[in-house]
Amino acid sequence: MDQTQIEALRAQAVTPFTHIIDGKQVAASDGATLDVISPIDGSVLTTIAKGTVSDMERAIASARASFEDQRWAGQPPAARKKVLLKWADLIEANALELAVLGVRDNGTEIGMAMKAEPGSAAGTIRYYAEALDKIYGEIAPTSHDVLGMIHKEPVGVVGAIIPWNFPLMIGAWKLGPALAMGNSVVLKPAETASLSLMRMVQLAHDAGLPEGVLNAVTGEGAVVGEAMGLSMDVDVLVFTGSGGTGRRLMEYSARSNMKRVYLELGGKSPNIIFADAPNLDEAAKVAAGGIFRNSGQVCVAGSRLLVEASIHDEFVSAVAKAAAGMRVGDPLKLNTAIGAVNSETQLLQNLGFVKIAQDEGGEIMAGGTRILEETGGYYMAPTIVTGVAPESTISQKEVFGPVLGVTSFETEEEAIRIANSTVYGLAGAAWTSNLSRAHRMVRAIRTGVMHINTYGGADGTVPLGGVGQSGNGSDKSLHAIEKYINLKTAWIKL
Ligand code: NAD
Repeated sequence: MDQTQIEALRAQAVTPFTHIIDGKQVAASDGATLDVISPIDGSVLTTIAKGTVSDMERAIASARASFEDQRWAGQPPAARKKVLLKWADLIEANALELAVLGVRDNGTEIGMAMKAEPGSAAGTIRYYAEALDKIYGEIAPTSHDVLGMIHKEPVGVVGAIIPWNFPLMIGAWKLGPALAMGNSVVLKPAETASLSLMRMVQLAHDAGLPEGVLNAVTGEGAVVGEAMGLSMDVDVLVFTGSGGTGRRLMEYSARSNMKRVYLELGGKSPNIIFADAPNLDEAAKVAAGGIFRNSGQVCVAGSRLLVEASIHDEFVSAVAKAAAGMRVGDPLKLNTAIGAVNSETQLLQNLGFVKIAQDEGGEIMAGGTRILEETGGYYMAPTIVTGVAPESTISQKEVFGPVLGVTSFETEEEAIRIANSTVYGLAGAAWTSNLSRAHRMVRAIRTGVMHINTYGGADGTVPLGGVGQSGNGSDKSLHAIEKYINLKTAWIKL
């Protein structure tokens, strides 16, 4: 990847995107479209179809028909594997195009987008393609006059609702295991990051996925997302996004067919720095990256920095220095460390949180403002707020922006108490040279993933899921497969 290639792709006009239903490009039933605004400069990039309830119903009917006639689920595992591996290859072959399209749509810095988006998505699809013929049923240890067998069957139609921060990576976390297990899927990308995901769906068809097995409908969550949630014909709903939407999806399920709902929600993850951390300079750099990359729009972002009082000032200065070295700007420039905030709405929300933090006694040590407004884009300086009380708003509510709240602590017990004092439980970290303390922290902090002497970067072999109001069920690893299968018992008298 070099800058010239990126600029050539940036210069290309983006043709309008439609839904993909039954393997075909389909406009909204009433012809309506939504403008796609690029957060890089606020310009209109293209349009997407503004889906209607009947578009969603049509997509679900297509998925149901493809499942019932077994055009995908009924294929031998080796045949399904071949298609998925080809899809992964196509994603890799088109990686730069996908990444640049996604960045123009959602503002993530290109370096991170290349790695976390097509790179990760191809790896995930390949992982589940390789796994699909290694998932066996079971024979139960019954008495000898019966045979108890446990079959693992696809659930049927999976509805997948995806957020805007990492559409390809998170999309692949759902699509990989769902398709590998033989399900048919209806996908709903986020309004402000549909393009690269829709392109990835096109590539699935190029790879030979039968028509109707993967349908994708764009548009507003409150319209097409709700229609998916309320459908009587979707068997499982998988979602990544905000807690508010997650709560609605559970209501939709209760009001319709009681479909299983798996939620990956937000976090307020604690990054805990003990004075005995092995390398404080490294910890400071990683802490800055752990909150400021992708403008803090990372579900596992280490948004609460808990620092042992004896090193507080020195450590926070080192984080501020690391943040100052991260260039904010045009996300398509290779030397940019922090790209654009996804939308103006999100940027204004971030600034609102900064104001509340100040009103509640926090001190702005760095950032706190919108920058580069003259570009027309949505940029925010990496922001560090010190003296943040554990019960204050920015300690308790997810900002989902480049805003780090710093709180000091005196003892390990106090650090644990503060770390566990939110409704969330997605990720966390502890930095220490003390092996026993490291293990104590893994046990004590209520999260889905706990890092020791690092932050982020856990690969596809391990699950990512939240506890508390960070969600239920996991993406990634073989454990994710459980969401996409039903267990069926065969009880046979011999
Ligand atoms: P969001 O909930 O607003 O939107 C997510 C998706 O839900 C979008 O596709 C949207 O169109 C759809 N949606 C919105 N309203 C809906 C409704 N009424 N019915 C059905 N669908 C609806 O969230 P967001 O702002 O796009 O994403 C940011 C949030 O996602 C943050 O809170 C972040 O922490 C969380 N997140 C979590 C993880 C994780 O793995 N746990 C990963 C990434 C992001």
